[in-house]
Amino acid sequence: MMIEPKSIIKTRRRTIALVVNSNGELIVRAPYYATRSIIMEFVEHKQDWITKQQKRIETENAEFVPVVIAQGGIIQYGGSMYTIDIENVEKITLFGNYILMPKNTDATQLRQWFLEEAARTLKHRVDFYAERMQVEYKKLRLSNAKTRWGSCSYYNGLSFSWRLMMCPPEVLDYVVVHELCHIKNKSHNKGFWQQVELNFPTYRNSEQWLKKNRKIMEIL
Ligand SMILES: [Zn+2]
Repeated sequence: MMIEPKSIIKTRRRTIALVVNSNGELIVRAPYYATRSIIMEFVEHKQDWITKQQKRIETENAEFVPVVIAQGGIIQYGGSMYTIDIENVEKITLFGNYILMPKNTDATQLRQWFLEEAARTLKHRVDFYAERMQVEYKKLRLSNAKTRWGSCSYYNGLSFSWRLMMCPPEVLDYVVVHELCHIKNKSHNKGFWQQVELNFPTYRNSEQWLKKNRKIMEIL
């Protein structure tokens, strides 16, 4: 069966490129001069690859479902699962394996709670590693980013997504070390990765976790 592209985007490029988006739809980028038959021939040739991507996305979508804020709902915090318990409490509080929430807590309030947790934790972790690595950063900012965990600007301003609070601590620490390494080296060249490894020897495990759990950014 032929896979029909969701859209074909013609741009000033010389090759055809395929992307399977998060809905499992095929997006084709092609040069202006590529005819439909050339494009479809290319798509047919890549059918196995497309099917594989679609299967992977389907599995991911089933695994990473949006957070439901209700009694018994599950929230990931620091890499561990907490069960939501709606209680007579003033504010969101972790308690054992539970996350206690006041009645009528909504997603905005839960995100705000994560943001505050992230502000404290990240300040602490960034300062800890900056001192150990003997680097100085300019500013520490928290973001709501769903596509990147952290960044280091040209002027060494650091930014981290509060969504890192959902990740295991060693993953959060790795992202901190990664961005701090960018203070002295803005590229991802061999020297950069050597510095990462020197300061965080198990970084490959964390990289792998991030790759596998990318979709966690989209659940809240
Ligand atoms: Zn980087």
